[in-house]
Amino acid sequence: MKQLRHRYGGGAEISFPDWVLDAGGHALLVGPSGSGKTTLLSIVGGMLQPTSGQAIVAGQDLRQLSAGALDRFRGQTIGLVPQKLHLIASLTVAENLQLAQYLAHLPKNPQRIHEVLTRLGVAELAQRRPHQLSGGQSQRVAIARAVVNKPKLLLADEPTANLDDDAATAVIDLLEREAGEVGASLLIASHDGRVKSRIGHSFALQRQQAEETA
Ligand code: ADP
Ligand code: MG
Repeated sequence: MKQLRHRYGGGAEISFPDWVLDAGGHALLVGPSGSGKTTLLSIVGGMLQPTSGQAIVAGQDLRQLSAGALDRFRGQTIGLVPQKLHLIASLTVAENLQLAQYLAHLPKNPQRIHEVLTRLGVAELAQRRPHQLSGGQSQRVAIARAVVNKPKLLLADEPTANLDDDAATAVIDLLEREAGEVGASLLIASHDGRVKSRIGHSFALQRQQAEETA
């Protein structure tokens, strides 16, 4: 990432330090609340275009991609576990994963879906809908959805927020294990000290000068 900056309409500009995450490496993105962690994940994941600067992900300069190519790239190369999970309420667990294949323009692959749900220990929940899952189960499904397309980069936004110590340890274990299984780099945004003790390599964002006064 080079000289990345982002300004939301009317807000202060966030400037990000330059950094590189090696292929297959695991790193933590730290910084106080409001420092831009979620913004940076959105840029790296191709969901938000930075105001300026260069983001190269898996060898691809994101600015060079057309809108359609970016959609495909995002679906096939990036796996995101968003903070609020965003499972589609009207779809079953299996259909949520099918949708990830569809949006990435990949052929239907029920076998892969079954394999990932099994790896995450939630295969028996495949026909349930998100409201029939516990918090921990939902998070496993969201991780399954993020890795179903074998991404090159797995992103997780505050994955341990609201989890007790055992569950926090378990979710970091799962993210590391699943990233390893598909050979993805792993970038976790978190201001949780428990995660810091687990992942040695970290990039730090500074507190922003002008906090918003909403
Ligand atoms: P973090 O994830 O580290 O808490 P964020 O990336 O969510 O930080 O936010 C960084 C800054 O950008 C904050 O000042 C926040 O209020 C602002 N911000 C985030 N998202 C938006 C948005 N969609 N529109 C306007 N401002 C935003
Ligand atoms: Mg955030």
